[in-house]
This record gives sequence, structure tokens and C-alpha cells, in this order.
Amino acid sequence: MRILEHEPLSARTTFRIGGTARFLIEAATLEEVVAGLSFAEARSLPTVILGGGANMLADDGEAEGVFLVPNISGLRMQADDASVTYAAGAAESWDGLVALSVADGAWGLENLSAIPGSVGGAVVQNIGAYGAALSQHLTLVEVFDREAGRITELPAAACAFGYRDSIFKAHPDRYVVLRATFTLSRAGSPGIAYRDLREHFAGSVPSLGAIREGVRTIRAGKFPDLAREGTAGSFFGNPSVDAGTAAALKERYPELPLYPIPESRETKVPIAWLLDRVLGLRGYRLGRARLFERQALAIVADRDARASDVRALARDVTDRVHDAFGILLVPEVVIMRGARMTSDV
Ligand code: NAP
Repeated sequence: MRILEHEPLSARTTFRIGGTARFLIEAATLEEVVAGLSFAEARSLPTVILGGGANMLADDGEAEGVFLVPNISGLRMQADDASVTYAAGAAESWDGLVALSVADGAWGLENLSAIPGSVGGAVVQNIGAYGAALSQHLTLVEVFDREAGRITELPAAACAFGYRDSIFKAHPDRYVVLRATFTLSRAGSPGIAYRDLREHFAGSVPSLGAIREGVRTIRAGKFPDLAREGTAGSFFGNPSVDAGTAAALKERYPELPLYPIPESRETKVPIAWLLDRVLGLRGYRLGRARLFERQALAIVADRDARASDVRALARDVTDRVHDAFGILLVPEVVIMRGARMTSDV
């Protein structure tokens, strides 16, 4: 177990800004995860589980807590004629797992290509893209349950998966995700009904590998390049609104695409469309942060930005959207205030 003090969080998050962690512990085994949790408890410090840092805005200054990185690696694969099963450690790269599954000819994860971050973070957030969600293929999650003080295996049905949501996101102080198992099919078919993919393939029937490449190309054309920009991708979630609000929006903006959510009778609003086409906020800059030029939902921080710059921009955008449309934006990114996780900007 490696215990680091005053560790810069800018080096551990894709926003690449923010202050330090009083303690950061890299735990390479389950025993080390437990020891790291005990270390925090003995000092009455809060614990923050940190994966790939792709969905977190670290605070400025020093966070008085223990940032615990469950560095559980390893990828095990089992296959039969019909299916391929992968058990992946929480610290494995999500996109690495997708790449491997595509190379193995296993269908299911290809639409989730090129999403940054770790397997653990992907499970917590139940990542989704282009009509697919991680939870459709996850079978089992191995966790350390801090309440029970032991390792437990949760089947998918016990994970309370929802749209970008899970039991792990709802109870961040209870579970540490250690490993996840996915079962994929050898006999899949392309899921390219989503507009960006449909247009990209223009009537052809792509192979599994072509879908991965297509998704990578689409995302590279739209989302900021993490090698060049400090960002956590989409900063806000796309909001759901009731039928009355949806109808009123449609009347004001007939071209606005709206997506009904069958299970909830609500409607999903692609907020980037409103930010861009109505409010003209693509590329909008406030201080040392801006809305990305090609996808206004993503906030990009300058190299010398502070977390407060990003929060100020997020507040500004939240206010403008509320004033113009009566919609309350909620960050998808975890906003740290010290060592406390919030969704308040
Ligand atoms: P987009 O394609 O511009 O879509 C914007 C919004 O419209 C999303 O909420 C999307 O729902 C919805 N939408 C578009 N086509 C739809 C359809 N045919 N049926 C139902 N809903 C539809 O989104 P983008 O910003 O370029 O992102 C591309 C994909 O990556 C999206 O699926 C987005 O959700 C995903 N993404 C995921 C994360 C994450 O997991 N944290 C972060 C960034 C982007 P869906 O969100 O359900 O697709």
C-alpha cells in the first residue's frame, strides 16, 4: 500500500486542475483496500474512492480526507461457443476492455468505445452511449461492503442500475467496486439506430470492428481530446422534463429533437442543442474555463484554471438555462468540496 501525502489531484483527474489530497492511498489488493479504509477511519477522515478521475472536479486547496485508489488490476476471460465472459479489475481501463472484447469478436460493448476512465468508475456511473448502457451486459459486481465489513458479489439485478445511475453511485460511502463481470455474445448484430451512428454508416451494415472505429471517429470529432484539453467530458446530464414542459419547448423551438423515455413518461432534452442553437453558448468563455466549441455540454479548463473558474462557469450556464427554459441542470461530474462529493456548483 502506497500512502502519499499532499498529493496533487490535478495529476489524477482528467480536468487536470485543483489542489491536493491530504492523503492518497494506492491499494493494489483487497487487503490494501481494507487497510486504506481503516487508515481513514482511525483518523476520522472522510474517504473518497478515486478511479480514473475522468468524472471528477477536484476542489482548490487541500482536501482533508483520504483519496483511495483501488488499483485492482487483472482481466480474466472465459469463452464457450455462444458467449464470452470477462472479469475485469476495477482499475482496468474501460476502453481497454472494450477493445479486447471487439478483438475477440464478442458483441455488446462496442457502442461504449472511447469512453475514458476505469472499469470501476464505469460501473458506478453505469456509462451509456449511442443507445447502449454498461448495465445491459454486466452480470456481477464484486464489492467491498463497508457496512457489512466483507466482500460481496452483487448480481446485476441488485445494483439498482438506472440511467447513469447505480447503487454504488447512490451509496458512495458503502461500496468499493473491486471487480466486474460482463457476459457478451458471439452472435450479436449492429446496434446503430442512434442518429450519429446511422448517419456515419449510411445504410451499410458494419462489422463489430467497424462499429468501434465509427464510434471512436464520431467521439473524436465531438468531444475534447484529453491529451490536449483539461475536461471531464459532458459536465451536465441531459435533463428529463414532464410532458407539459416538453410540449412548450417544442412549440417555441419546433426543430428541437426530443426523446420520449417510455418507462417514465418523461422526455429527454438534448441540452447542448439549446445551449448552442438558442443561447449561442458554444465556445462561451468565463475566466479560465469555457464550453467546448464542438459540444457545448462539455466544460474545458485552461491549464492554469482553478476549480472555482469551472464552478463559476457552470453556475452561469445553470442560471442562463433556468432563466431561458425553466430547466434545472444537474452536473454529471462529481464536484468535490474539499473531500466531500457533491453535485452543487
Ligand atoms: P447526442 O447524441 O447529442 O444526444 C444528446 C441527448 O439526446 C442524449 O441525452 C441522448 O440520450 C439523447 N438522444 C439522442 N438520440 C437519441 C435517440 N435516438 N433515442 C433516445 N435518446 C437520444 O449526445 P452526445 O453528447 O453527442 O453524446 C453521445 C453519446 O455519448 C450519448 O449517448 C451520450 O449520452 C453519451 N455520453 C455518455 C456519458 C456518460 O456516460 N457519462 C458522457 C458523455 C456522453 P442518451 O444519453 O440516452 O444517449
